[in-house]
Amino acid sequence: MTIWDARHETMAREQLRALQLERLQDMLARVYERVPFYRERLRAAGVAPGDVRSLADVRRLPFTTKSDFREQYPFGMFAVPVDEVVEIHSSSGTTGKPVVAGFTRRDLDTWAELVCRIAVMAGVHADDVAQISFGYGMFTGGFGLHYGLQRAGAAVVPISAGNTARQLQFMRDFGSTVLIATPSYALHLAEAIARHATPKAFKLRLGMFGAEACSEELRRRIESRVSMRATDNYGLTEVIGPGVSGECECRSGMHIAEDHFLVEVVDPTTDEPVAEGETGELVFTSMTRECSPVLRYRTRDLCSVTTERCACGRTLARMGKIVGRTDDMFIISGVNIFPSAVESVLFAIEGVEPYYQIVLERTGAMDTFEVQVEVTEAIFNGWMDDLRAFEQRVTEQLRSALLVRPKVKLVEPGTLERTEGKAKRVIDRRQR
Ligand code: ADP
Ligand code: ZN
Repeated sequence: MTIWDARHETMAREQLRALQLERLQDMLARVYERVPFYRERLRAAGVAPGDVRSLADVRRLPFTTKSDFREQYPFGMFAVPVDEVVEIHSSSGTTGKPVVAGFTRRDLDTWAELVCRIAVMAGVHADDVAQISFGYGMFTGGFGLHYGLQRAGAAVVPISAGNTARQLQFMRDFGSTVLIATPSYALHLAEAIARHATPKAFKLRLGMFGAEACSEELRRRIESRVSMRATDNYGLTEVIGPGVSGECECRSGMHIAEDHFLVEVVDPTTDEPVAEGETGELVFTSMTRECSPVLRYRTRDLCSVTTERCACGRTLARMGKIVGRTDDMFIISGVNIFPSAVESVLFAIEGVEPYYQIVLERTGAMDTFEVQVEVTEAIFNGWMDDLRAFEQRVTEQLRSALLVRPKVKLVEPGTLERTEGKAKRVIDRRQR
């Protein structure tokens, strides 16, 4: 197992903390001087950059949220003048103004370096052919992986998302060994490969998935359709894009680039830190970004973080799978439910295809919770009685895991929408 940047990835934690403090202090001084938005926030919180003398003092600093980014659209959070900016990205943002983040030349270098780290961590070598099926464009996914994989020495195929027939043609003809995609699109591609006339002609061996949650069950489903090993990788535009964290070959959590990003896990309701290993909201401070540094960014992503040493030898903390986004969670009959919990139950059931959608509706004062699930051809076209019994079984398993009884609707394979990017799992029609 190769470690790209052994100096930082295996740094003694004591030493890492010293580096973090130094970088945090430097970043604070910079944003205080250069970004009026942060200067006002810090003043309002009654803290001057010099007040931060230990890492624990980070808790005295104000949080930054997605709406702050939107209000500062487009360049209000930039800490450098436009002549130092060499690239600008923005995240999709389903509502309101988009989030914008800029990169200086050094930011691009850092980004390439951090994505290269997670690529090498996943097992990418210089002789790999890496097909990037993340969308290119304003989304950080495509370009981030592009820069990082090139640095790792891979031959990059910048095909972007979509056009499955062409994806398969190049994948086979170029002998692509690494696939970069959202797990939803990877599943779609894997199924297309499995159906292909010559599935043996494909050389995929490694998947680097990211941008959305991938349950263990979904990962297994994809890996069983094409024989590759896939890693989970996490990132977000506000922090840098991909490269924030990724799984090593041990696949027991994603190593966070803590030398660049200070991580906290807080209780989303009290804002207090949770104990190590407990689940809470991830909060990141990007200490080295020149153009778009962010102070205590509230990701709304829920997961746990451990600093226990990993078998790979890296000392960087690991975050678990994202169990949900605070804005993804829905409430039915007073029970909080994350789509990931529904997914884990469904994908563990034999006969269920890895496609589902949750539909929430309000009839009168009652909320209805429907789960539409694709099942295999054999089940769908089997005896009606068997289909009912199967539906019952799925309903019962969901009920016992979620403590709420959904209405399960089994549908034919191929019914639900396929996606090239992030899947939309929940349709909430309850808003009046
Ligand atoms: P958005 O989706 O908000 O338009 P981004 O493209 O920056 O913007 O996406 C970042 C978000 O995507 C994260 O905050 C997180 O919710 C989700 N995400 C990214 N990677 C993963 C992952 N590996 N597992 C689960 N969720 C992820
Ligand atoms: Zn590891």
